[in-house]
Amino acid sequence: MPEEGIVLSSAGGRYRVFSGGTVVEASLRGRVKRGHHARVVVGDRVLLRRDPSGAATIEGVGERHSLLRRRGPGRGERVRAVAANVDQIVVVGASHEPEWDAALLDRFVAVAEANELPVVLVVNKCDLEPAAAALVEPYAHVGYAVVCTSTRSGAGLEELRGHLAGRVSVLTGPPGVGKSSLLNALQPGLRLRTAEVSWRTGTGRHTTVAAEMHALPPDGFVVDTPGLRDIGLWALMPQEVTRAFPEIARLGAACRFDNCRHLGEPACGVEAAAARGEIAASRLESYRRLLREALEAGRPWQ
Ligand code: GDP
Ligand code: ZN
Repeated sequence: MPEEGIVLSSAGGRYRVFSGGTVVEASLRGRVKRGHHARVVVGDRVLLRRDPSGAATIEGVGERHSLLRRRGPGRGERVRAVAANVDQIVVVGASHEPEWDAALLDRFVAVAEANELPVVLVVNKCDLEPAAAALVEPYAHVGYAVVCTSTRSGAGLEELRGHLAGRVSVLTGPPGVGKSSLLNALQPGLRLRTAEVSWRTGTGRHTTVAAEMHALPPDGFVVDTPGLRDIGLWALMPQEVTRAFPEIARLGAACRFDNCRHLGEPACGVEAAAARGEIAASRLESYRRLLREALEAGRPWQ
């Protein structure tokens, strides 16, 4: 009987699959390789068959309800599938050390929006800043879920755990903000266990590969890969930028020109709203920076 599983990582044509509470190494059956998915990626739901020797084969790949796609910074660069069936992007910043960087965090949020994924915004190290909640206020105002956490005091950890339960989350953000510390605080021993994950390969050797997706019992998964930590550097198309700031997109109707890009055109409703304090100045600045960047890179309007 085939079993259902979820792909934790892939490397060189070998896949680590979480199935029935254990991690199995599997290879891909030829016919599946030629299926309509170009690649099997982290988060794919698969059907596994184990033969009596213990070898496991991926026999089928399920429909994806979401797909995180990466476009590199170069002009005309190909779009690559990175992770499937992600439910939300958790963007982590720190109140201090490193300093809260709204422009940088807005990039992470915009890439999540471009992938049509919900965002949870976390300000970690809130023990270092009594006014940490003010940093995420602009995001709460837009409608994003926000959480203030500290791995030192334990503040906000239960709230964050609540957001992660029953979902597949990508944890991302600039280096040093405390992503690993948060994972460890939520699931003590997680690192230890992932470091111990070791299995017999087809050739009988034992291998250990850094896990890319962690099961967060009882029913959550967290994708935390080096490849997803630079999500803020992924390139956006101009059109994606115009949709990635929901509060700005909503205000577009108030502009004199239908095709207003809110880059300084006359009678811009977005600029007026920012002047009245109805949208955060930092968000409008981020929007403009990302849009100019996309246009200057010569990326076409789709
Ligand atoms: P990552 O690069 O985002 O995974 O960050 P790390 O988890 O490696 O943490 C970077 C540094 O921040 C480490 O020295 C942690 O001990 C420290 N750190 C993590 N969380 C907190 C926190 O809530 N408060 C304080 N004060 N320091 C923290
Ligand atoms: Zn405008």
